[in-house]
Amino acid sequence: MFHHVKELQFNARVSGPDPRFARLLLEQFGGGNGELKAAMQYFVQAFGCRQAHPQKYDLLMDIATEEFSHLEIVGATITMLLEGVTGELKDAIHRTSLAKVMGGKATREDLIHEALTDPLFLVHSGGGPRVTDANGVPWSGAFVNANGDLTVDLRSDIAAESRAKIVYEYLLQFTEDPLVQESLSFLMTREIAHFQMFTAALETIQPNFPPGVLQGDPRHTHTYYNMSNGQDVRGPWNEGKGPWNDGQGWIYYHDPIEHVRETKGLVKEPIPGGESKMQKAKEMDEQLSNMRSAQEKAGTPTSKNQWSEYPEESLTR
Ligand code: MN
Ligand code: MN
Repeated sequence: MFHHVKELQFNARVSGPDPRFARLLLEQFGGGNGELKAAMQYFVQAFGCRQAHPQKYDLLMDIATEEFSHLEIVGATITMLLEGVTGELKDAIHRTSLAKVMGGKATREDLIHEALTDPLFLVHSGGGPRVTDANGVPWSGAFVNANGDLTVDLRSDIAAESRAKIVYEYLLQFTEDPLVQESLSFLMTREIAHFQMFTAALETIQPNFPPGVLQGDPRHTHTYYNMSNGQDVRGPWNEGKGPWNDGQGWIYYHDPIEHVRETKGLVKEPIPGGESKMQKAKEMDEQLSNMRSAQEKAGTPTSKNQWSEYPEESLTR
């Protein structure tokens, strides 16, 4: 159940109209890294963990709801940045010069230019936000990443927060309005807060790498193919110990073509650590498979079910 509270989470303010920035800000309303995307992503992910992972459900729904609150702040700011323009548009009979609403300083030419930066504000939405990005491309459900595995979803969420943060950082460079900057700075900072929340939540799931249940084939989890000529760059991504599990060492193939031929197309790839390594991976598959499946089964009744938690007897008449 949603309940609308009329106050915004953060009191959005503007110093005056600025249709050009309103258009840029649309990116955070209906764009691929915007607030609606974040809200819908966490909202959709939450359904899958309502019963088996109630703590993560609570986290995802709280942050989804906060993102809807941010969408409201962005929509309110866009509307205020277009105000004045809208009032003049409605004056269809008198057709007063729109230039006046720009504080008198804008000439008619300027205003035509402003309008052209997003003519749809004027001829389509009548001065409110549209569910598009700054270029007018409609919002899409394809922006939403939800894969039904919490380690995958939380990583998608950390990535989404990084992207939202950097878009606010870029946007801040395109407005001189201190009041708009104040709101954007708040919105940007909340993405930093969410980044930390999702990171901490991911850490509570152990093990969380690799994502899902099945372990990788140890013959291929730590091999690096030098796929280019010229100078080879070595670093912790292809040298020394790998960063996860028991820190198996990287194996660097300088000449991958020769290696592929020698191993008959990797069929004869040696097993680092020998057969016992393969056995260990299989055991881990079995163990995790049982654990994860038991978790889901324990939290999800297969017969009578209800989403809200009313006592069964209270539901009979
Ligand atoms: Mn947000
Ligand atoms: Mn966020």
